[in-house]
Amino acid sequence: EKVRDERLKYLTDEKRIKAVTVCFTDLEGRLHMLDYDKKFLLKSADNLTFDGSSIRGFSAQAESDLRLNIDWSAFYWLPADIFGPGKVLVFSEVLERDGTPYHSDMRGLLKRVTEQMFQKDGTVFHAAPEIEGFLFKGRDAERHYHETGKFEFISTGGYYHSLPGDMLRKFIDTAAEAQRAMGFQNEKDHPEVSPSQFEINFSYSEALIAADQIQLYKLLCRQVAAQMDLTASFLPKPVTGVNGNGMHMNLSLSKGGRNLFYDKNGQDGLSQMGWETIDRILNNANDICLVLNSSVNAYRRLDPHYEAPNQIKASPNNRGAMVRIPFGNERSARIEVRSVAPDANPYLVLFTLLRTAQEGPVPQEDAETKRSRTRFLPDNILDAVRLFKGSQFVAQILGENVQSKFAELKLASAERCPKQLGSRVKIAEIQFH
Ligand code: GLU
Ligand code: MG
Ligand code: MG
Repeated sequence: EKVRDERLKYLTDEKRIKAVTVCFTDLEGRLHMLDYDKKFLLKSADNLTFDGSSIRGFSAQAESDLRLNIDWSAFYWLPADIFGPGKVLVFSEVLERDGTPYHSDMRGLLKRVTEQMFQKDGTVFHAAPEIEGFLFKGRDAERHYHETGKFEFISTGGYYHSLPGDMLRKFIDTAAEAQRAMGFQNEKDHPEVSPSQFEINFSYSEALIAADQIQLYKLLCRQVAAQMDLTASFLPKPVTGVNGNGMHMNLSLSKGGRNLFYDKNGQDGLSQMGWETIDRILNNANDICLVLNSSVNAYRRLDPHYEAPNQIKASPNNRGAMVRIPFGNERSARIEVRSVAPDANPYLVLFTLLRTAQEGPVPQEDAETKRSRTRFLPDNILDAVRLFKGSQFVAQILGENVQSKFAELKLASAERCPKQLGSRVKIAEIQFH
């Protein structure tokens, strides 16, 4: 309430702002934006409706009118040199007409579950994503791919390279600067292993903020690239024969500022809670795989020859293991879930990982043996859909409605590109998010 009133006053007073972009994310992770004229928004901020029937994965005809409930604490200025002057953006929750939460709005779900956890006993869920992307020639490279079957690199350099005047470096600098302007706490950025690949890291945040930042990161990178007549692509595996794009998720829980995953005497510096979290994630890895890898193309990436995991395992250094335990201290102890692709829905990913960390069933007898036995993640989306759909645990955390809706959307995406399902056909499915 207080934040809302402050922001509305700010909008009234700030003459440079003419319109406000209100954002929400559909079930598959695409960011949607509605621009409201400021004068209109100031009058109707508490009564915004939109037609949800044309948003894929949102409502059927019968429930087409949905409402937006602005989350005034998630308010951002967009950098003027990239987006033009006077642009502000705010995230919102999607509600039914009667004001109850809309079941396919994963942002609302993540917000509620993290708030409840904090209210219950002060526990906070932190996440830091490492989002990799490619920079390709041309403003419309993903569409051109359909015609030419090719993406063109703009740079030949590899990991940490430093070619003078390089376009990739210029892109990374501009995107990192734009992020700083939006309040991201950047930590480091660098060209990644593949030619023309980048990664810009920012500091961990409370999970909801981290998920918003993932959406903003991709938006910003795309916009900066378009300005340079290039395309930033977050397809998990756009090019065969080189590393793909991961979105490793670094996770931890804290209470009263104390990192609950740290124990200096624990195995690999992790507390018992840290290890329990790992066991729960590994034990339910098959069930939730579709959430973390939700496109046909994502399954092309999961290949340990390219530093992407396919093993249901935790390890301090094996990059083929889906959970890595980075070397950490009291402040930085965490687990890194590597089997997440950048085109997944970040709200759904973090919600699912949190609930799995807390409630994922683990058969008591053999957590220890499970850790060392190698099992593999599904290697194609059809298997992942089957495992997801058949999961009691997924039904428990997401509800049967979302479970079956998500599975249907993913089956439909598999049907749109039947050629990709054969394991040797290595082309990319294009999804624009
Ligand atoms: N590009 C790799 C992946 O697909 C990760 C490389 C790294 O460890 O940063 O996950
Ligand atoms: Mg990386
Ligand atoms: Mg990593």
